[in-house]
Amino acid sequence: MRDTLKHKGMRNNLAETLIGKGITDEKVLNAIREVPRHLFLDSGFEVHAYQDKAFPIGAEQTISQPYTVAFQTELLNIEPGHKILEIGTGSGYQTAVLLGLKAKVYTIERQQELFKKTKLFFNKMGYRPKKIIFGDGYKGLPDEAPFDGIIVTAGAPIVPKPLMAQLKIGGKLVIPVGLDEQIMTLYIRKSEKEFEKKELGNFRFVPLLEDKN
Ligand code: SAH
Repeated sequence: MRDTLKHKGMRNNLAETLIGKGITDEKVLNAIREVPRHLFLDSGFEVHAYQDKAFPIGAEQTISQPYTVAFQTELLNIEPGHKILEIGTGSGYQTAVLLGLKAKVYTIERQQELFKKTKLFFNKMGYRPKKIIFGDGYKGLPDEAPFDGIIVTAGAPIVPKPLMAQLKIGGKLVIPVGLDEQIMTLYIRKSEKEFEKKELGNFRFVPLLEDKN
């Protein structure tokens, strides 16, 4: 598969759809206009890639819906050079959007099959996250902490304490919390001990699973 002007046109339309749904951050919208989502999917989904929908990516996982990717990314308020930790690499689409905002990205995936596939894909495409880790996102990445932002792209039954602890003061954690349905939750670290919490609507994600290793 290649990226063509036709795909670019479909991405512009997708960005318009997202604007219609309330996404306003131009930098986020530009990243959506740039990242060739169809290349992150199996070829059978190519014609559907620019619909605002989630799709299967193997290993019972899904690529998040573009609206969800844009919504979560917008909440992080990324500035160039920000250090961002992503839990749930999956297809790598969200990672690529974060890279499009010039973040330094660390990303963790617990499914070996997806980890390997997406790592190869990043190499092929020239996407350069700082680290792609095969491991358990519940633990975060203490060696690289603190982070300006942490984004969890699977539904978390609880808010993992290590993730809160690995935020900079002023840093943001964006995490969908819940079992069957999740509430998008934003934590902003105000000081060593204080966090501001905001709940921002309902979403549906595949579950954030405990480590099986
Ligand atoms: N950001 C991805 C979304 C993939 S779906 C994308 O844009 O495609 C969520 C991903 O979280 C899945 O790949 C799943 O395997 C992974 N995941 C689930 N539990 C995890 C955990 N404890 N640690 C790391 N990744 C996890």
